[in-house]
Amino acid sequence: MSDITTRDTVILGSGCSGLTAAIYAARANLKPLVLEGHEPGGQLSITTMVENFPGWPEGIQGPELIENMKQQAVRFGAELKMAHLVSVDLSKHPYELNLGPGKEPIHTRTLIIASGASARWLNLPSEQALIGHGVSSCATCDGFFSRGKEIAVIGGGDSAMEEALFLTRFATKVTLINRTENFRASRIMLERAIAHPNIQFRPSTVVEDVLGVEEKEVRGLKLRNTKSGERTDLPVSFMFLGIGHIPNAKMFHGQLDLDSDGYIVTHGNVFPTHNGAPVPGVFACGDIQDRRYRQAITAAGTGCMAALEVEKFLEEHNR
Ligand code: NAP
Repeated sequence: MSDITTRDTVILGSGCSGLTAAIYAARANLKPLVLEGHEPGGQLSITTMVENFPGWPEGIQGPELIENMKQQAVRFGAELKMAHLVSVDLSKHPYELNLGPGKEPIHTRTLIIASGASARWLNLPSEQALIGHGVSSCATCDGFFSRGKEIAVIGGGDSAMEEALFLTRFATKVTLINRTENFRASRIMLERAIAHPNIQFRPSTVVEDVLGVEEKEVRGLKLRNTKSGERTDLPVSFMFLGIGHIPNAKMFHGQLDLDSDGYIVTHGNVFPTHNGAPVPGVFACGDIQDRRYRQAITAAGTGCMAALEVEKFLEEHNR
């Protein structure tokens, strides 16, 4: 493999973690290539106000924060490419990244996996059939279309609270449906949602079906109370999912150790393993390896660590 065609580092994913890694790697003159992935900008790009990222006392919109990070990475020499990894064989170093049929593979000495996690769905056939027709996992993207309508938000974590609060700007009524009585949301978010006059809570309730498949638009939800067993129909025009995320690590199955939910297991924050053994030059950061904290700032932190480890690895291998 010629040195000219082999990159020092490639970063999978352009969310908070990948872009932080790109800023650090670019400032170390490693000319990182960032493959932007299926969801460029990651979860911050589809969120609203971020109030807990240090440095913005009044908060900052997620897409603006991501855009700033992109500009910062590019300013120091990072290259961003609209592409995603189809496959890679981690048993052969340097690594060859396959980007799909007809696309030139990329060779790299190190790989930073920052491919994050994607929205989780209920996986009801009716829900899947109505994605884009009233079923959405992105309140920021589709909230506007719910103007003047009654809608439902599913979930009991911060995402669901944030979506419900955001959607009150458009919808006349938001019903928040959580499968248990326990809410994972932080107290401040939960209290804000409870205090809002246009948000109604339905705890211990599951969605059994989304109505409107024939009409090709959401007409309502078939609900079941898990305590009483009572079934009701809730007439709504939109269903927004806020039930968490699934890690984008499928292509590493059998090549890296994953936990039972598919997150990459790391040691020392950013070092993945295969059958417990280190994988040279491969690092993982952000939500793909963090099921505990999952914050923008922790994703940025591990992104920084991954880039510093790349530098160290290359130095140790005489680059
Ligand atoms: P989460 O905290 O994991 O909550 C997921 C919610 O969805 C839980 O209520 C869960 O119920 C429910 N759920 C999961 N699978 C379900 C299914 N198949 N059917 C019905 N309900 C289901 O996820 P998140 O709200 O996306 O938050 C993830 C992380 O990001 C958290 O650390 C959160 O603090 C952070 N976050 C922060 C902000 C902010 O600060 N502005 C905004 C969004 C997210 P169970 O509890 O029953 O499992």
